[in-house]
Amino acid sequence: MTSFDDDFTMTIGGKAVAGASAFDVLNPANETVIGRAPDASREQLDAAVAAARAAFPAWRATPFATRQKLVTAIAGVLAANAEPLKRLLTAEQGKTLDAAAADVMGGAYWCQSTATLELPVTVNEDSETRRSETRHVPIGVVGAIAPWNFPILLACFKLGPALLAGNTVVLKPSPFTPLTTLKLGELLRDVLPPGVLNVISGGDSLGPWMTSHPGIDKVSFTGSSQTGRKVMESAAASLKRVTLELGGNDAAIVLPDIDVEKTAQQLFWAAFGNSGQICIATKRMYVHADVYEPLKAALLDYAKTVKVGDGAEQGTQLGPIQNKLQFGRVVSLIQDAKDKGYKFLMGGVPDAEKGYFVPVTILDNPPEDSRIVQEEQFGPVLPLLKFDNVDDAIARANASEYGLGASVWSADTDAALRIGEQLQAGTVWINETQHLSPLAGFAGHKQSGVGVENGLEGLLEYTNTQTITVKKALASA
Ligand code: NAD
Repeated sequence: MTSFDDDFTMTIGGKAVAGASAFDVLNPANETVIGRAPDASREQLDAAVAAARAAFPAWRATPFATRQKLVTAIAGVLAANAEPLKRLLTAEQGKTLDAAAADVMGGAYWCQSTATLELPVTVNEDSETRRSETRHVPIGVVGAIAPWNFPILLACFKLGPALLAGNTVVLKPSPFTPLTTLKLGELLRDVLPPGVLNVISGGDSLGPWMTSHPGIDKVSFTGSSQTGRKVMESAAASLKRVTLELGGNDAAIVLPDIDVEKTAQQLFWAAFGNSGQICIATKRMYVHADVYEPLKAALLDYAKTVKVGDGAEQGTQLGPIQNKLQFGRVVSLIQDAKDKGYKFLMGGVPDAEKGYFVPVTILDNPPEDSRIVQEEQFGPVLPLLKFDNVDDAIARANASEYGLGASVWSADTDAALRIGEQLQAGTVWINETQHLSPLAGFAGHKQSGVGVENGLEGLLEYTNTQTITVKKALASA
């Protein structure tokens, strides 16, 4: 397959369903309409949940090995259609074609790898009188809600384990990037039994309808901490299970013994990959005073070579901000820094006439209490921050309501590890960032999340714990 038609439908009960109405989806590089997505009504959500509930008994009874094969088959479908999917994803998301391919193929890798996991059974007792086992059984219908920064990869973080564990799913992409996910739903209609995976799209009401829907048993949500709080509140009414992967304000701590030339590029991409729109992007870079000036110079030299533009154009390395709302947030942070008189090393307030482009922006040691240091920028704006004392850097890194990721950079990995162990974050990297694995738990500490995705811990989040005991000897009369 090399291209898609421009007809985007939802997938409910294995069938194509048009929306009650439709909404425009824009290309963030030029603000033109690239397609119209179905806008699901409340009745259509009810239909999707009903289809998922109807499919649940047979799916949970499907042998685990068959479910493993079918989750692996999702990987095959993604890989076989990577070319048209990546083009569509670049058009709606803005990222480069290579980055879009990585999003799609990352989703494939996640499904394939997740399918190798097994659900453990713990034998608690096996005596003459009793056998007691603890197992993990599926929960029911999972409502999966995804953000716009990695639409396919982050949807697969949820689909793989939810389906493998025996749940059925209603998946909702972000209204800013629904099209590639709708196509994935379409491509999987003949792969999965009807109703096992339903894909619906809609406007701002659809998420809250899902989180309060009595037919949804668990919500798996990736998005901002602000929305995460609303999801938890809404899910509390029926005590739905929740997994929340939320925002971050990751600190990198750079020690004075690094090789500046070798590390500068890696540090640049840690902060600016996907135009900074990564939950685990480095959002605050604490650099030791002894190496601050040379690293600053090396970062600037490299940053000046990076091409920002339309993700579909050859040579582009960074695309636009994905949507107007987020563009406005990033611009307001830059404007605040300008108004307060902070020093810009490069970049600043954007001036593109069309498209949500923000130039690579680096700030020189703004105050610790500034908005750009304290808030999640989720855009290509990085504060470089100077420190003299490692304990001070650790304290500043930890002084955040967020606790998603953090990194430490040093030629001495043991010393870096000792610092890393003091950081309050769900994932800590030494001399790299953003390495995630489908086989390793990924969790947000503090207000960066509730629960875990990926790995065995992530798989278990899609299960209820069930202990079964069998009394072997009949009670004497
Ligand atoms: P968002 O919270 O605005 O939206 C996420 C999803 O939730 C979208 O599908 C949206 O339609 C839906 N939604 C919005 N309001 C809702 C409500 N009241 N109830 C239910 N659903 C609702 O987030 P975003 O702007 O799409 O994504 C950016 C944010 O996501 C950043 O904060 C980023 O750090 C975070 N993020 C976290 C991770 C992670 O794994 N921790 C990964 C990627 C992004």
